Amino acid sequence: MKANISHLRELQAIDLKISALDKEIAAGSAEIDSRSASLEGHKDIIVQLTAKIAVCEQRRRELEGELEDEQARITERQAKLMNVQTNREYQSMLKETEDAKKANTQREEAAVQLMEQIETLTTQIEEENKICEEDEKMLAEDIAAVEKKASQFTAERNKIMKSRESMASAISASLLKKYTSIRDKRNGLAIVPVTGSVCRGCFMNIPPQLYNELMKEDKLISCPTCHRIMFHETETGEE
Ligand SMILES: [Zn+2]
Repeated sequence: MKANISHLRELQAIDLKISALDKEIAAGSAEIDSRSASLEGHKDIIVQLTAKIAVCEQRRRELEGELEDEQARITERQAKLMNVQTNREYQSMLKETEDAKKANTQREEAAVQLMEQIETLTTQIEEENKICEEDEKMLAEDIAAVEKKASQFTAERNKIMKSRESMASAISASLLKKYTSIRDKRNGLAIVPVTGSVCRGCFMNIPPQLYNELMKEDKLISCPTCHRIMFHETETGEE
């Protein structure tokens, strides 16, 4: 029984190592995913800002066209003003010209506002571009780090898997099945120490009778609460 326990403990140690490596790789991949998502978000913002600038530019060009047309009409009207016969007609044309000039002043102001808006949007794009550059740089670093880790991991995993295989072959099929089933259900931990009559898997107390049996080390005993296989360990961590 002691040999079984020690084989299971070794197997557990190997499996914990494998899952730690797996977690490290998964964490690296998650980091890459989140950075990629952030980068895409900033790129989207740039697309939106660029579209806004295009709208402003379009409106500004329209205003310039309107300004020119209006100016042409004003010039035309001013030329006609010389040949007007009646005072009423003269006053009316004078008013039309004044109104047209006012409208053009408003157009000029609107065009200036659009220019300012375009300038602000351009600054925002420059800032977003800087963020994207940083993100891209860090993303490349993250990818390189994960790739490096993954290749180290593959080499290490092959070694670990070999020792796992030989360890697993030393354990009976039924016990291995039990171990695997507990490990799957119990967060990767199938065999746990008991110190001070407390199961270190679930931190519940072991009944005294069961604890006494555990100390004898002549059969496999599972925790009544978490069902993990238990082994006795003194408080200092020595067996
Ligand atoms: Zn337990």
